[in-house]
Order: sequence, then C-alpha cells, then structure tokens
Amino acid sequence: MTEFELRRKIIDLCLQMNATGLNQGTSGNISARFGKQMLITPSGVPYEQLNAEDIASMPINSSKLTWDGPYKPSSEWHFHRAILKSKPDLNAVIHTHSMFSTVLSIARESIPAVHYMIGAFGGNTVECAKYATFGTSQLSANIKKAMKDRTACLLANHGMVVGGKDLDNAMWTAVELETLAKQYYYAKLAGNMVVLPDDEMETVVELFKGYGQKPKD
Ligand code: 13P
Ligand code: ZN
Repeated sequence: MTEFELRRKIIDLCLQMNATGLNQGTSGNISARFGKQMLITPSGVPYEQLNAEDIASMPINSSKLTWDGPYKPSSEWHFHRAILKSKPDLNAVIHTHSMFSTVLSIARESIPAVHYMIGAFGGNTVECAKYATFGTSQLSANIKKAMKDRTACLLANHGMVVGGKDLDNAMWTAVELETLAKQYYYAKLAGNMVVLPDDEMETVVELFKGYGQKPKD
C-alpha cells in the first residue's frame, strides 16, 4: 500500500468501527506502520472530518514526541508506538472503548479460555492491563506487560487494544475480541462455565498459526 492508501484505510476503519457500534465518538484510535514511521489518528478530531493529510506521522524509534501533520497525534501515541516498536510482526494497532470489553475491564478481569477463539490472540487468556491514566507512558508499560505473547489485551476501566499484521487483520482481531468479551459476559450470567484446559489451548494456538489462507508453497 502507498502512504496515501494507508492513511485512507485508517480513516475508513475509524468510520467503520463507529458505524458498526464497535466504538463511539472520538474514543479509540488507529495506527499503522509505514516504514520507520507510525501513521496515527489525530487526537479528538471527529472521524467524519478527517482527510488523508490529517493523519499524524511520527518516527517509531524516537524517544521524544515529534510528529508531522496539522493536528497533534492521538493522546495514546505512547502505547501505539511501544507496540509497533516491540512487536515487529504487528503493523497496525486498534484501540476501542467497545462495550463488552470495557464492561469486563471495569471489573478488571482477564478473559479465560471460555471459547477456543481465545487462541487467536496468542494464548489461553486475554489479560487485563493494570489501570493507569489515559495517554500516559505508565499505561503503555502496563499494556506491554499484559500483551506479552499476545496480540490483544483489555485496559482496566478503559477499553481494549489489539494489534494485527495489517489494518484488516487488526480490525478482525478487534471484532473477535469484542465478540469473545460478549460471550464471556453472557456465559457468566448463564452460569455453569467450563474453561478449556491448557493442553487443548496449546493445540489451538498452534492451529491458529496456520489458520486462514496462506500462499501456496
Ligand atoms: P484520542 O482522541 O486522543 O485518540 O483519545 C481517545 C482515547 O480513546 C484515549 O484513550
Ligand atoms: Zn481510550
């Protein structure tokens, strides 16, 4: 994808996540890797108003806050940049305040293996990162811990964050996490929950490495 196409795709997915009810208002934010730069939504600008040139561009490897673009980047640039920096397989990051993930995050609960799809996030749980004020490097540090060996986590009293190999894959992961959070929420209400054993989840995590369409050898 060209840089322009990537910028347009970020905006399209912002509009999509609000239109589908996965997110609301100017909550949430999306970033993507473009070479050594991170393209990220600007802070607090309604998604309907965004044009490609409004997406901020920041160096991934800098230790300071510098950016190009007419608007300052998302207040959550710390964790977007930390995820892209520490996980080279992930090229896109999506943060939402989606309903069921956020409800579980308010209880500060990690999600156990109540459905095999939890393996899509890399292990047998989706952890809940410890609470820290939004937009801080402490929140970023807490997320880094919760996302060890995972492509997603919940953020205590806040929402969720996921990464993907590209923007479409990150959106797939976000939708699956919200679905899992919803299933777990209702399963708890229904009672009689059975959690899948660790050895079965090891099998599932391995299967997910080859899941979907791969290029033929
Ligand atoms: P921004 O508008 O700065 O991206 O903030 C939204 C948000 O979700 C903060 O956690
Ligand atoms: Zn947020």
